[in-house]
Amino acid sequence: MDKLIYFDYAATTPVRPEAVEAMVDALGQFGNPSSRYGYARQAAQRVKEGRETVAAAVGCSPAELFFTSCGTESDNWALRRGMELNRRRGKHIVTTAIEHAAVLETCKDLERQGYEVTYLKPDRAGRIGAGQLAAALRPDTALVSMMLVNNETGVILPVADCVRAVKAFDPAILFHCDAVQGFLKTPEPLARLGADLVAVSGHKIGAPKGIGALYIKKGVRLRPLLTGGGQEEGLRSGTEATTQIAAFSAAVRAVSADSARLERTAAIKEYALSKLKEALPRLEIISQGDAPHICAITLPGYKSEVVVRVLGDQGVCVSSGSACHKGRPSHVFAAMNLPKPWLDGALRLSFSPGSTREEADALAAALKNAADTLFTTLS
Ligand code: PLP
Repeated sequence: MDKLIYFDYAATTPVRPEAVEAMVDALGQFGNPSSRYGYARQAAQRVKEGRETVAAAVGCSPAELFFTSCGTESDNWALRRGMELNRRRGKHIVTTAIEHAAVLETCKDLERQGYEVTYLKPDRAGRIGAGQLAAALRPDTALVSMMLVNNETGVILPVADCVRAVKAFDPAILFHCDAVQGFLKTPEPLARLGADLVAVSGHKIGAPKGIGALYIKKGVRLRPLLTGGGQEEGLRSGTEATTQIAAFSAAVRAVSADSARLERTAAIKEYALSKLKEALPRLEIISQGDAPHICAITLPGYKSEVVVRVLGDQGVCVSSGSACHKGRPSHVFAAMNLPKPWLDGALRLSFSPGSTREEADALAAALKNAADTLFTTLS
């Protein structure tokens, strides 16, 4: 395998050099931010600066941003403690059928504990409207959870409109937004969505795995999910991951400084899709994706797991849906009611601002080659 041709940036991203540098620097400074002596205060300062940087990118105050271990933890915290906070309102949750497992599996667990969940279905294009959400609200609805960017289609859900509809129905309903695929991938800072809670994750933007954050709007009195030493203002115990935080902050700074990144990513996605259509006339586009970095395609009649494996053997990395599904058909494409051959052959491609035309050409050639080989084997 000569060179990795990587089109799976929605699964995870390479750690940016700026993040590596910040991490190595922080590793050398091993103090515990909670210790009282001067040496440790440097570590505390690093955490403070990290919080300021990430909060600025989210568009909130540092006091509203709490570091967690990942997007999944942030989602769990928001949903579990959000329902607890609003338990007097009722036990009804509204979410969508196309959320990431971090939200869906948490909802299923809450159902086992006696909560009731409404799962909004998307249309054939993967869209869900604010009117649809408004119609699902009930007097006992305590929380709404809606993602910003779907991780398999790249569709942007109308979160700001949905927040307005929910708050017009009753301002006391909590609104959580899983913005793991939207952080620094959409033009508006996330806090402007108006949601009470917003989850983000570092490894989707060039930070290492193992760091995320939850924005908790001022005034929302969410209790901690993890209790212990009282770090993060008592809201998320556990010795601060100083190296991870330093790297997250460095990645956020580097990504934010690249002001043309969204346009570049969208342009390379468009180029790749045109090359793919040219090389494979039978290829269909499931979703072009509103977010610049994700789209979904299908080779009807093929099995996407086999295509992914054949491409992988040639060093070309794409996904047959969210990496978390481990071979199961995507619940997102299934919820969109795609015809079975489309479902079977569905592939997700995801891009970075650094993806090149040469890589896109290589992807088109490799996919054509894989399709031809598999067709011959099948027939
Ligand atoms: N939410 C969405 C939309 C995601 O795409 C992912 C990861 O793929 C997560 C949540 C989970 O984030 P993490 O991997 O940081 O736990």
